[in-house]
Amino acid sequence: MQFHRHRRLRRNQAIRSMLKENHVHVEDFIYPIFVVEGENKKEEIASMPGVYHFSLDRLNEEVDELVSLGIVSIMIFGVPHDKDECGSSADDAHGIVQKAISQVKENFPSLYVMADTCLCQYTSHGHCGVVEDGEIINDASLERLAATAVSQAKAGADMIAPSNMMDGFVAAIRKGLDEAGFEDVPILSYAVKYASGFYGPFRDAVHSTPQFGDRRTYQMDPANAREALREAASDIAEGADLLMVKPGLAYLDIIHRVYQEFNLPVVAYNVSGEYAMVKAAAINGWIDEKKVVLETLTSFKRAGAELILTYHAKDFAKWLKEGSI
Ligand SMILES: [Zn+2]
Repeated sequence: MQFHRHRRLRRNQAIRSMLKENHVHVEDFIYPIFVVEGENKKEEIASMPGVYHFSLDRLNEEVDELVSLGIVSIMIFGVPHDKDECGSSADDAHGIVQKAISQVKENFPSLYVMADTCLCQYTSHGHCGVVEDGEIINDASLERLAATAVSQAKAGADMIAPSNMMDGFVAAIRKGLDEAGFEDVPILSYAVKYASGFYGPFRDAVHSTPQFGDRRTYQMDPANAREALREAASDIAEGADLLMVKPGLAYLDIIHRVYQEFNLPVVAYNVSGEYAMVKAAAINGWIDEKKVVLETLTSFKRAGAELILTYHAKDFAKWLKEGSI
């Protein structure tokens, strides 16, 4: 009887290691960090065990640990005190995010620092753009976003990561950065961002739950795949340097299609809800956390992601270092 013996290539660890198609490296990670106003704060986010809010005076100890684990990149998210209708503190040179960026760059110059650029943490209504008469106004939001991006670049951000999903945001931010002399600062566009239920814990973390309506007029319908390619194509035309797909796990097909269709590096955002589910199951002893995290992160690489924004980064880096994974 003729058949192929696939199991020949799985007989022992050596051959399995030799033939492994995809690997997860510590350099693949972007680790999200949440900074808050105040002093001596390191407070765990209830729905995200192992993830903390840090005040600036406690930030260095965390970053120091990340650097010693070999993590090369972080994304900074801020939780400001002041919120108003148009998110006017988003581009404050002395805002919490700007201060965190300059502090980290000053103390850890070789760490690659990305800034999340959006208005929802700064607006009283929690939407990602300027609101008038209950509507999210596209073009008025662009100016605010460009100003925010420029202020983050001035603070020392190595890369700008706009996440707001207004139309034209990449063009507006590119123009703003170029005019301010930051033509070498790349843009990681959240090109494909779905209106997802997986963001719940993150919104707890940055207190950005919309106070009215939802985000479905600017974030995408989870049912759509071809629309993702249109979103990505227009961001590339506007000057995006990298493309993000968010969330990650329920959208591996989208990561793969964006990877196949375009030449730009693709970034997967392994979002808060995905993290929270794994953590909750692990804490209950229902899954083997290390195995599940490795499998999850590998799935992003297999789908085509170059980089992974993930809350698991720190744990995973530790496991790699101690050789337990
Ligand atoms: Zn937002």
